[in-house]
Amino acid sequence: MTEQEPLLRDNLLYLGDNGRVFCGACAPESTRYTCIDRGGEEVVEIIPEEARHVEHEEGITTACEICGRKA
Ligand SMILES: [Zn+2]
Repeated sequence: MTEQEPLLRDNLLYLGDNGRVFCGACAPESTRYTCIDRGGEEVVEIIPEEARHVEHEEGITTACEICGRKA
């Protein structure tokens, strides 16, 4: 049996259940391997360029809620 690679990238941010934001490294183990968050919805990858655009335009910083990593 081969080791399965996580589907989420540690250095990218994802939008999960209830709009929470977390990076791949902080995502729950099951979410990392399935892309499905606790609510049963697929997590959405946050594009770093879009996050920076929002930060620039609206002053809202998109960052991991757990470790504070930015997009
Ligand atoms: Zn994190």
